[in-house]
Amino acid sequence: MKAAVFHRPGKIQVDTVDDPRIEDMSDVILKVTSTAICGSDLHILRGSVPQARDMIMGHEFMGTVVEAGHGVTKLKVGDRVVVPFPVACGHCFFCAHGASTACENSNPEMYGPNGDLLKEKGGGLFGYTDLYGGYEGGQAEYVRVPYADFGPRKVPDAMKDEQMLFLTDIFPTGWSAIDWAQLKGGEVVAIFGSGPVGLMAQKAAWLNGASRVIAIDPLNYRLERAKMVNKVETVNPHEQDPVEYLRSITEGRGADVCVDAVGYEPERDVLDKLKAVVNFEKGSMKVLDDCFRAVRRNGTVTIVGVYASPYDNFPLHRLFDKGITIRQGQAPVHKYIDQLIELVAGGKVVLDDIISHTLPLSAAAHAYDIFHKKEDDCVKVVLKPEL
Ligand code: NAD
Ligand code: ZN
Ligand code: ZN
Repeated sequence: MKAAVFHRPGKIQVDTVDDPRIEDMSDVILKVTSTAICGSDLHILRGSVPQARDMIMGHEFMGTVVEAGHGVTKLKVGDRVVVPFPVACGHCFFCAHGASTACENSNPEMYGPNGDLLKEKGGGLFGYTDLYGGYEGGQAEYVRVPYADFGPRKVPDAMKDEQMLFLTDIFPTGWSAIDWAQLKGGEVVAIFGSGPVGLMAQKAAWLNGASRVIAIDPLNYRLERAKMVNKVETVNPHEQDPVEYLRSITEGRGADVCVDAVGYEPERDVLDKLKAVVNFEKGSMKVLDDCFRAVRRNGTVTIVGVYASPYDNFPLHRLFDKGITIRQGQAPVHKYIDQLIELVAGGKVVLDDIISHTLPLSAAAHAYDIFHKKEDDCVKVVLKPEL
């Protein structure tokens, strides 16, 4: 079959590889009908999440069951499903407590309670390196899905792939960022990063009762998309200091909630890069720092952008003095997905309006290139094996 394969940093290309096979009685094999590229895939492309051997990329995918292991009871050949990005067993302590990304069984080689930097990760993730279980991903014609009675969800017949695909990751991720802040209604919510994850957090903020939603991003074309699809206010940090702006619209207090939907690889200047080298840090926590400065006293900062290193000069004093609450982590997709499918199927929210490019799987290398370099007004790419 054809698949988008990671070879080394900077090199992801479409190759012919072996078809996946059923390896455990709880597996199914899907024929992939749609898959997407995520900002998280860029961390692998850039080499900042290391991977030594070739690996099929992709943790956002959906498709049709073409084969089912004899232990699978809830799915049958022909079912059309969307698959949460965490690989989770469904019966360990964490799966039973709604924390599928901490699954104790899906990443036996690298699992560890300490969460140490180079080893001791959480549960497995599709197409996300040997550190996260070494599962082949879904940017391919076919993919093996373990624990098939727990992860995949059947898609309503009337819904098109594009309407449902983002339930694999980015809508539950944006939803987590807002749900963790427990809005009561009427909050000012500032969302740093207006990429796919930020755009989904904007949708979730409105659905949860925010009174104002402010999108912050240095790329004007992404802010334009945010204004168009989500009717949010926008700030470009090159033109206006977002912290000052947020204070100016809240009588000096700051936003009730700040969401970091950027993570450790933001746009950076030379000084910021130098600081990272001197301190042995990966990337930068400058966006998180903006969140801490821009949030009001007793406000909440939620972090869905990825962080992968400790940071010197972490502003603990500011967190303490302002009494800030922080929630963060990988999105527990399994916990939210059924409720979110209902929202989409019921017409309460539209997700496919963020798609800028639909391309054949064979164009994956080009798709990675434009999404990474933010060229051709690229916001979100959907890849189709059958195009
Ligand atoms: P993306 O790279 O397309 O979007 C990031 C956006 O941040 C870009 O639009 C960029 O211009 C903007 N940005 C850069 N510097 C900024 C700054 N200083 N201030 C404000 N905005 C800035 O990626 P994405 O797909 O939207 O993903 C965003 C992050 O979320 C990534 O770190 C990704 O790994 C992470 N992620 C986490 C989860 C999770 O479960 N927690 C799931 C999916 C993605
Ligand atoms: Zn993703
Ligand atoms: Zn588990």
